[in-house]
Amino acid sequence: MRALTWHGRRDVRVDTVPDPIIKEPTDAIIRITSSGLCGSDLHLYEVLTMYLEPGDILGHEPMGIVEEVGSQVHNLRPGDRVVVPFNISCGSCFMCDRQLFAQCETTQVREQGKGAALFGYTRLYGQVPGAQAEYLRVPHADFGPIKVGTDLPDDRYLYLSDVVPTAWQGVEYASVPDGGSVAVFGLGPIGQMAARIARHRGAGHVIGIDRVPERLAAASAFGVDVIDASDGSAVEQVRACTGGRGADSVIDAVGMEAHGAPVASLAQRATGLLPDKLGAALTDRMGVDRLSVLLQTFDAVRRGGTVSISGVYGGMVDPMPMMTLFDKGVTLRMGQAHVKAWIDQVLPLVERDDDPLGTAGLATDHLPLEQAPDAYRRFQQKEGGVLKVVFQPGTSAL
Ligand code: NAD
Ligand code: ZN
Ligand code: ZN
Repeated sequence: MRALTWHGRRDVRVDTVPDPIIKEPTDAIIRITSSGLCGSDLHLYEVLTMYLEPGDILGHEPMGIVEEVGSQVHNLRPGDRVVVPFNISCGSCFMCDRQLFAQCETTQVREQGKGAALFGYTRLYGQVPGAQAEYLRVPHADFGPIKVGTDLPDDRYLYLSDVVPTAWQGVEYASVPDGGSVAVFGLGPIGQMAARIARHRGAGHVIGIDRVPERLAAASAFGVDVIDASDGSAVEQVRACTGGRGADSVIDAVGMEAHGAPVASLAQRATGLLPDKLGAALTDRMGVDRLSVLLQTFDAVRRGGTVSISGVYGGMVDPMPMMTLFDKGVTLRMGQAHVKAWIDQVLPLVERDDDPLGTAGLATDHLPLEQAPDAYRRFQQKEGGVLKVVFQPGTSAL
């Protein structure tokens, strides 16, 4: 089959690789009809290169049609249409019983000290072949995949794999008081949905912050008050529109590659260029100042407020402004989304006739897989208004 494989920093290619096969009785094979490109893939493209090996298949936002199931998969049949959560969980361990699916104890990558295995996400998360491919082997298919109807187009359901539950959890963890204010840093796919969900769930004032005009406009169309962060005054602007206090809640939907922090990006590039082992050690232990947006969220939240971190961070000993956090009495919540925990709440929303979250219009690009390398580059550069890319492996490049 054809699959998007990683070969080095900013070097991804579409290669021919062996088709996946059933290895465990709880596996299923899915023929992918749509597969998202995520901001998390950009971390692999540029920063976390020391945890990848050439030939690794990327991608963790799939949906498609069941081709084949193992002997112990009784919930699915060939021909079923499914969307697959990015975390791989068993559904029946201590963590899964508590709906903490991103911490599943059956798939935890213990040798790396990490949580549940993820599709297409480095050896830290199990080096499971990813979903930007024609076919995908789905472990624990007796629990993970979500069966969906056949009437609506893929784009309505695809974001149940990651974007919508991640944004929902980001808002949930932000504990926005009824009618209160929430500032969302970053208006990529995750921040867009978080801002829209916050409005939908009754926040009084939703403020969205980014530097890309098209992304600001997309949020504005959903009733979000937007702030252009390019002049470095985002925090002052948040304060100015929240009575000088700061927002009740703040969501970080940027993560470790914030723009506008040249020192951090230089240091990140340096760790990315080191031999793998050294680079990994640096990224694991020494820490690099990559917290520029996170530090802004601490500044922008009001005393006694909550910061919810959806953006992905790495590193160990980055300086944390503990005095500020303690003095302000800030609550912090964060982590990988427990996708299946939120499906009962978000599935009816994406299916609603009036599409309140605008899932149908989120993708700016629907592309054949063969165009993936160029799409990675454009998505990273935020070129030409690209906001969300969906690969359709079944379509031809012509
Ligand atoms: P993205 O890269 O498209 O979005 C990031 C946005 O942040 C961009 O629009 C960018 O312009 C903006 N930005 C950069 N620097 C900024 C600054 N200084 N101030 C304001 N905005 C700034 O990615 P995405 O797909 O929306 O993902 C966002 C983050 O969420 C990533 O870190 C991704 O890894 C993470 N993520 C986490 C989970 C989870 O389970 N917690 C799941 C999916 C994605
Ligand atoms: Zn994702
Ligand atoms: Zn489990």
